[in-house]
Amino acid sequence: MKIYFKNAKILSQGTIIEGDVLVENDRIAYIGKPISVDADRVVDVAENLLMSGFTNAHCHTPSTVLRGISDDKPLEEWLDEIIPYETSMTEEDIYWSTMLGIAEYVSGGITSVEENYGNIKPIAQAYKKSGMRARVSIGLPNVNALEILPFETQFSIVQDAGLSAVCYAHSVYGTSEENLDKLTTFSHKNNLPVSIHMSETLKEVGDCTVKFDKTPPELLEEIGFFDRDCIVYHCVHCDKDDIQILANYDVGVITCPSSNLKLGSGIAPIYALQNAGIKIGIGTDGAYSNNSYDMFKEMFLVATLNKATLNRADIIPALDVVYMATKNGAELLGFENVGDIAVGNFADLILIDLSKPHNQPNNDIISNLVYATKSSDVYLTMINGKIVYENGKYFIGEEISEIYLKNQEIRVKIKELGGKNE
Ligand SMILES: [Zn+2]
Repeated sequence: MKIYFKNAKILSQGTIIEGDVLVENDRIAYIGKPISVDADRVVDVAENLLMSGFTNAHCHTPSTVLRGISDDKPLEEWLDEIIPYETSMTEEDIYWSTMLGIAEYVSGGITSVEENYGNIKPIAQAYKKSGMRARVSIGLPNVNALEILPFETQFSIVQDAGLSAVCYAHSVYGTSEENLDKLTTFSHKNNLPVSIHMSETLKEVGDCTVKFDKTPPELLEEIGFFDRDCIVYHCVHCDKDDIQILANYDVGVITCPSSNLKLGSGIAPIYALQNAGIKIGIGTDGAYSNNSYDMFKEMFLVATLNKATLNRADIIPALDVVYMATKNGAELLGFENVGDIAVGNFADLILIDLSKPHNQPNNDIISNLVYATKSSDVYLTMINGKIVYENGKYFIGEEISEIYLKNQEIRVKIKELGGKNE
């Protein structure tokens, strides 16, 4: 299968070039001046933008159906409120809610995702069916007890679906010391990376320090969690010693600014993390705390929040943020040959309509991407060389009307249950 994109502006290796792109099967085969090629389809990009799709490096996608169900609460109160709704969801509910999330991903240009949730059977099924690139959690994902399959079984489910795996612990407050230890041992045994929510709220850091006389990074260092390839989500309340520990172990940080703002958790010290040489990716977190999967919104916040807190307009330029949302995120999730338009890379790419008023004129397309462009400007999304979204149409293995209908039914059902799973 050959798809030829002609007449494009192309974001490649941090610069905009003009030309054509040939996708052959799942890979980018050519970038450059127009060539004559016998393609199955020619897409006239009409001087709009072709760029890598985004990596949403932290999410709980089955929460999509819970969007708006608990707003305006601090994290601890919010967790108490949403957990009964989560546990009232069946495997089928999780499948359809994940599918709704996937539809939102592809329509907004997200082509790969880190999935952090329990009950991975229906999740793996949804990702496999949709063609989404995903790294899926095995482990002890939730504060409360959803049915937890043995790690080995979870690992097989992820592998059988052709997805990559990460050993995921919820947090130092939500996962017992014994379970953290078990998970770390399993990750060593199977040579798997690890991940965890870390230093998200002041309460988490305070409680951990009282209980263990250590901050969360100090505790995780002590138990050997950072000896594996590791990413941590949030990292809002880290001081310079914490940051140094992360840098020493080459731990990646996934920042989720919308969720941190909405839950009143705080603002992550992105500039300090960057200066310590730490690689940063961007996540949306779940729809129950964000409440949308919009990487343009997240990029704007990552670019601007530290400017405001530090009174420094000159820091965290737009290109750095685009890298975080694409290449860096993909690398942190272990996806090789993903995150940029380059010959030989997997064809995970998006077409952005630059013709709308808020994208005009094109003085600086990279600046526009972070400060002006909207997720609704995404016209086409391709993953692994397959078009999964184009101009309002979805090709993700389920009809969009069916996805909406199923999620309406789930919404009504869990509302009737009142969030009680007895
Ligand atoms: Zn999260």
